[in-house]
Amino acid sequence: MPRIYLSPPHVGETEKALLVDAFDSNWIAPLGPQVEAFEREMAAVVGMKHALALSSGTAALHLALLVLGVGAGDEVVTSTLTFAATAFAITYVGAIPVFIDADPVTWTLDPELLERELQRCASVNRLPRAVIAVDLYGQCADYEAIRSICGRYETPIIEDAAEALGATHRGKAAGSWGDLGVLSFNGNKIITTSGGGMLLSDNPEWIAKARHLATQARDPAPHYQHSAIGYNYRLSNLLAALGRGQLAHLDQRVQTRRAINAFYRSHLGQQPGIAFMEENPKGLCTFWLSTMTVDQERFGVSREEIRLHLEQLDIESRPVWKPMHLQPVFRHCRTCKGEVSERLFDHGLCLPSGSSLDEDAQNRVVEAVLSVPGRTGGH
Ligand SMILES: *Cc1c(COP(=O)(O)O)cnc(C)c1O
Repeated sequence: MPRIYLSPPHVGETEKALLVDAFDSNWIAPLGPQVEAFEREMAAVVGMKHALALSSGTAALHLALLVLGVGAGDEVVTSTLTFAATAFAITYVGAIPVFIDADPVTWTLDPELLERELQRCASVNRLPRAVIAVDLYGQCADYEAIRSICGRYETPIIEDAAEALGATHRGKAAGSWGDLGVLSFNGNKIITTSGGGMLLSDNPEWIAKARHLATQARDPAPHYQHSAIGYNYRLSNLLAALGRGQLAHLDQRVQTRRAINAFYRSHLGQQPGIAFMEENPKGLCTFWLSTMTVDQERFGVSREEIRLHLEQLDIESRPVWKPMHLQPVFRHCRTCKGEVSERLFDHGLCLPSGSSLDEDAQNRVVEAVLSVPGRTGGH
């Protein structure tokens, strides 16, 4: 039986045709008509006025902080339960991450803790320069609450929507809730360009500035002239063609990932000791990855025993993100609480969730979870 991957790329003939067209056009460069079209189409899908296609989501986060003027010694508040790229980008500009724990139901940034932290920062007259809210595993953070809190302290929001393209909150798309939005098209994301990302905003000046910085900060001159430090962050025209093909299928991809989540829930959700990440009723979650927690006492075996058993059956699964405040490199950073994300990391498992996962494969995963040796509880 073939190996089942966590979230492999899902590409087809549309992508191939667009890629070959781009190749034949000889626009094999980090800009070109496919890039422009991809930016236009993505801006329309997300509902932001301007978009900049980039070589990665991490580059988009870096540029978002640069255009907001975040710099050395500034503090930036973010979620501790995220992929490290969110926190890495903060350090690229010399700023200091401050970590906030997750909500136990939705797993996204806890707005109450955010409010308490901003209150405390205001009382010592040292507000963070920005908040990076993270949309986790396909679920938007609670922007209704976060926007109102940040609005009170006039703190700009960057939305790290790398995991949540296609999701909504209060009917508004992931990627459109911040002053700047960040997407990723890495190979494991809901749509991919093999590697790539996008920065979105309604503010044309920010996007123009980010475009300038991403293109080696070339001043308008016939020779090469630079008045700022630049980066080589643009997306290739070939990869933008691939992205356009992927974007055309986004709605189906979201539906499929949601159906996979519903399948896992219906076959595993009733098991004692198993609990899935809940969908926030304020929005639509893509379930980019289907994630559950395992209570060893009630289910009979631990998360790690399940993961290892799946691995033996050639099924890839992963622990939930290790919180940033537990990472050796971020140990020294201030953290507001942290117990919720620690518990999710200890007991959480991401199941295979790719949109190419057929029903046989989904059944294989369910049966594997239910057949872990040594499982005595739950029957
Ligand atoms: C994938 C991811 C990123 C980084 O995106 P890349 O395109 O891989 O650089 C950033 N933040 C989160 C939450 C992610 O999951």
